[in-house]
Amino acid sequence: MSEKIITRFAPSPTGNPHLGSLRNALYSWLVARQSGGKFLLRIEDTDRKRLKEESADQIIEMLKWTGLDWDEDVVYQSDRKGVYREYAEKLVETGKAYYCFCSPEDLQNMRKEQLEKGLKPGYDGRCARLTLDEVNKKIKDGLPKAIRFKMPDGGEIEGVDIIKGRVVFQAESQEDFIILKADGYPTYHLASVVDDHLFGVNYVLRSEEWLSSLPKHIKIYEALGWSLPRFAHLPLILAPDKSKLSKRHGAVSVFDFRDEGILPEALINFVLLLGWHPKKGDEQEIFSRDEMLEKFRLDDVQTSPAIFDREKLEWINGVYIRKLSLSKLADLSKPFFERAGIDIGDRDLEKIVSLEQQRIRKLTEIPEKVSFVFQLPEYESDLLVWKKSDKKNTKKALSDLYVWLESIPEEKWNKEYLEDNIKTKIEENGWGMGDVLWPMRVALTGMRHSPGPFECADVLGREETLRRIKQAGEKLSSEYDK
Ligand code: GLU
Repeated sequence: MSEKIITRFAPSPTGNPHLGSLRNALYSWLVARQSGGKFLLRIEDTDRKRLKEESADQIIEMLKWTGLDWDEDVVYQSDRKGVYREYAEKLVETGKAYYCFCSPEDLQNMRKEQLEKGLKPGYDGRCARLTLDEVNKKIKDGLPKAIRFKMPDGGEIEGVDIIKGRVVFQAESQEDFIILKADGYPTYHLASVVDDHLFGVNYVLRSEEWLSSLPKHIKIYEALGWSLPRFAHLPLILAPDKSKLSKRHGAVSVFDFRDEGILPEALINFVLLLGWHPKKGDEQEIFSRDEMLEKFRLDDVQTSPAIFDREKLEWINGVYIRKLSLSKLADLSKPFFERAGIDIGDRDLEKIVSLEQQRIRKLTEIPEKVSFVFQLPEYESDLLVWKKSDKKNTKKALSDLYVWLESIPEEKWNKEYLEDNIKTKIEENGWGMGDVLWPMRVALTGMRHSPGPFECADVLGREETLRRIKQAGEKLSSEYDK
């Protein structure tokens, strides 16, 4: 039987979760679920300065919204300070780490001097050279102390990454780094290694920006006598101009996309393809959850950065919008109507959203596109005139149309019947289709581009349709007679 993979999503709650976080979560979820293993959620809240109060809840909300379910209770690292201290102290006892009493000013001065001398800035190891007596004295004096991990002075540190293959780091360029801060909180390096080990995580997936931390982590694992998990560093996500993706490229937080009317299934599908594609020759772009589980392979993740392509996101979203049932689409659209200040009242929202289901790419577009149903926009009478017609003919066409429509009773008022009936009348009366259907559509919507005239008449209902056709005729007469 193949190995059960245990992964974790370990975000720092420092702000709104972004696409990169969602991708880490998705890939970690996929490999865990593929193997029948576990997907854990750990909130890395030990950097108290960068902490944002609401962020952990937003992370949880994101996972729920996108359907990435996790196993076991959420772990908050801030609840586990004692555990990290225990391991940090153990590393001091075994000589793999040491107390560091350097104050922020000491470190600043050290850096300044190094730069002045043209040296590479970094911790110079001074506290590692303190004698036991000196250390004890400083402790007795109550000096704040951190714990620093000792990195080797020379040689190579070699790691293996599932995506990148073998990666080698020069130990010389690695400074001794803090694992437990003077405030008693661990740094990311210690806390993440300890928790990954204690919770049995055997696959660590994280963004590429953490690759430079790999030598540190490898050394902590070794120092504690623990076996290494497998690592996969996921490619960066860049904007189309290859710069870092940021606010100026539009939405970046997952909830910005939700507010724009991107569906969670679409966002997940899009994020899946940020760095992974099926094997050559397989052009599939739309993946159900089951298909993702079947096809995703971590070793096929690309090494080059993924490029954020908004066009593609909206295209994918359009595909998912078209898959929705009308009742679901109506439900999902409600908050967008509210936000646009449109009171739906007791109207048949399913019928209204059906006007645009085939065309829209984001839910925000719906209220804007169908607002004509609720209120006819102002429009110029010229717009009523089809390009091959003129005002006089248009006026006549509208008055004929009015008579034909008026003869259709309420119970037959539906798109199919209207279309059959009116088209026959147009032919019988020797009109061209455009002569009548163009002004009809404009009369009903006030817009150059809109859904077709019969769909609109159906949604508006008999009374309102007749009122708008009449109003258009009057608009033309008042101007025509001038
Ligand atoms: N807390 C880190 C972050 O939010 C997670 C890195 C990791 O997954 O190990 O970037």
